[in-house]
Amino acid sequence: MTDTHIDLPQDQPCAFCDYLSGRRAFTVLGRNNIIAVLVTREQRGMGHVLVVPTRHYPTLLEATTAERHALIDTVSACAEAIDAAYERPGIAVWQNNGTAAHQAIGHLHFHVAGTLPGGGTDFGEVTEVPVKQTDAIAQRLQEAGFSLT
Ligand SMILES: [Zn+2]
Repeated sequence: MTDTHIDLPQDQPCAFCDYLSGRRAFTVLGRNNIIAVLVTREQRGMGHVLVVPTRHYPTLLEATTAERHALIDTVSACAEAIDAAYERPGIAVWQNNGTAAHQAIGHLHFHVAGTLPGGGTDFGEVTEVPVKQTDAIAQRLQEAGFSLT
């Protein structure tokens, strides 16, 4: 699908493409030829990661069938790893298409995060954590058995 009714964020260049290319430092938990998992510096929950396609496109509506399947398989693998690593009573998954739905970066991404000690996830202002800290989160998820197939 190339033409939708969705209003997209005007963010050029794409931050996620910069992270995936290595132009900007960021923690990549895993990647294959279709999917990558990034550890976001905006931690809105415990072990908060982003599941993204390696190909740039803005919303779920542009994803191929193979990409849709790989995305949900990877979201599920992340949820399993977060459960094992953080032992939270809840795991949130969210994905926004279009600025009207609060999409901030115009490259499709699913959020996966364990709930916070106070409950839920934080949708307010969060302080960016350093890459050293997101690297440590990635290590914890890998030690809990995360792998990208
Ligand atoms: Zn991109």
